[in-house]
Amino acid sequence: MLHTQPIATLRRQLLAREISPADLLRSVESQISRTDSQIGAYLFRDLDRALAEAETADLSRPLGGIPIGVKDLINVKDQPTTCGSRILAGKYTSPYDATVVSRLRSAGAVPFGKLNLDEFAMGSSTENSALQITRNPWDPTRVPGGSSGGSAAAVASGEAVAALGTDTGGSIRQPASFCGIVGLKPSYGRVSRYGITAYASSLDQAGPLTRTVEDAALVLQAIAGPDPSDSTCIRQPVPDFSATLRSGVRGLRIGLPAEYFIPGTDPEVEAAVQGAIRELESQGAEIIPVSLLHTSAAVAVYYIIATAEASANLARFDGIRYGHRCENPKDLRDLYDRSRAEGFGAEVKRRIILGTYVLSSGYYDAYYTKAQKVRQLIRRDFREAFAKVDVLACPVSPAPAFKFGEHSSDPLQMYLADIFTIAANLAGICGISVPCGFTSGSPALPIGFQLLGPPLGEAVILRAAQAYEQATDWHTLRPV
Ligand code: GLN
Repeated sequence: MLHTQPIATLRRQLLAREISPADLLRSVESQISRTDSQIGAYLFRDLDRALAEAETADLSRPLGGIPIGVKDLINVKDQPTTCGSRILAGKYTSPYDATVVSRLRSAGAVPFGKLNLDEFAMGSSTENSALQITRNPWDPTRVPGGSSGGSAAAVASGEAVAALGTDTGGSIRQPASFCGIVGLKPSYGRVSRYGITAYASSLDQAGPLTRTVEDAALVLQAIAGPDPSDSTCIRQPVPDFSATLRSGVRGLRIGLPAEYFIPGTDPEVEAAVQGAIRELESQGAEIIPVSLLHTSAAVAVYYIIATAEASANLARFDGIRYGHRCENPKDLRDLYDRSRAEGFGAEVKRRIILGTYVLSSGYYDAYYTKAQKVRQLIRRDFREAFAKVDVLACPVSPAPAFKFGEHSSDPLQMYLADIFTIAANLAGICGISVPCGFTSGSPALPIGFQLLGPPLGEAVILRAAQAYEQATDWHTLRPV
């Protein structure tokens, strides 16, 4: 069962020559052929090429011989990028690697296949993919979360050893929690965005979805760090995460934000998260109540700023430079109109329209400028909290994975469910989701626990998450 092992275990076997990278890749591929017709995680794979890369993988590198799935809005050279959209599907093959992908390659990993997502990463369930449905490996009647739903479902089901996702408002942490795996959103600027299709440029970050906290640290170590191709990528050396991973939580100050423990959260989620906090307390962490006063404004602020940035970023899909072009355009205007009308799905159109509206003359100050001001207040809340505590602990999502169609008729309900993940992106801080229990129903659904850290504070959230993970066995449970 190679395909269900964490990276750290596989690396030991690879280095001892008990297995070869090709054995590992074949084990992953055979699991994909057994389960992906039900799960629907992959949009593209090139096994022959991956096998050739595995044969020559440098095992002395930190991720040598490890196959990693990639969310399909991250460019991998000579592979298609669809962004889960009809506007790109079948029309675009990337001529280059995103920085995160070239860094994975330098670390010896094999970027193996592209994973489904909500169209242009807009959504929380992967239901907005124009290309296929992805199911939750724990319960096929439920969504895997989103927008990195393919990445989370692949790792949870043994169809990938690890995967890359992106998180603009929760898209790594929420699907990780819905699928019972670990998902880490790095601080804004920790990881290069070069070669990743932009949704909301001031919020987007790429990061790992893995089976264990240690694996998340390994993948983050490989992809993080300054990049001359992304001016927003912070020029600071990346600490050695493995050096502090096992330092424990004795004396660590953990803040509980009052605004993240509110009525409306599923009682089983609340109980599992409280249990995780008690575990850390029993290991010697100090639990301190804090307040993040402007939390209730976060969803509204996000849907102004994210849609404004999206409306500008998505202007490049014009039927001329990239992607789908309509048949027999009457004139240039008709070409733009119909290419975009035919290529984009409903949610993407809704957001482009909303974003254009909040930026338009007469509304700019009322919406966009105001949202930027409130964003500063949200940042200040976190700054003040991190003056008193080292990390914050809270739920990832108010409820476990929901059923297909449950929220898709009401976009506002879908948006509001991101209340516990969105503020971290607005503030640029880092966050990790770790499995912390299951619901009592049948089938039981995974529940995630979130730790938030200050800007560039990945080492401390990894350390706290590791301390929790080591005391529990939630991360070892796999869907049948
Ligand atoms: N669910 C949020 C949205 O729909 C966040 C998505 C993301 O992080 N990419 O925008």
